[in-house]
Amino acid sequence: MGSVPVYPWRLAPDGLATYRQLRAKGLRPGGSSVVAQLERPRRRREPLVAYLYSLDAAKPVRPMTPAKWAALAKANAARRICPTCGHDRGYVIPTSLGQCVRCADSRALAA
Ligand SMILES: [Zn+2]
Repeated sequence: MGSVPVYPWRLAPDGLATYRQLRAKGLRPGGSSVVAQLERPRRRREPLVAYLYSLDAAKPVRPMTPAKWAALAKANAARRICPTCGHDRGYVIPTSLGQCVRCADSRALAA
């Protein structure tokens, strides 16, 4: 850092926002770049610094909704179900076997 413009507190140009201001709008910094910083002088101390992000580059925060969690849980559950015996084995069916270990074992024994 050190190459970004520094503005006095409350004099940030339009189109820039701090991380907290972005979150308040339901946004997050797009990319990772701090485009400017604000400094508030403090008596006998280092100035207070706030990093500013571009509002144009900001992206909406996509929180996990209950429906998304449910869909994820369902997808994970489906990956635990053996296509051969139809049991939820409690672990993800190995793609190398294409079925649960028990089914793969019994087929190996039968062969
Ligand atoms: Zn099975």
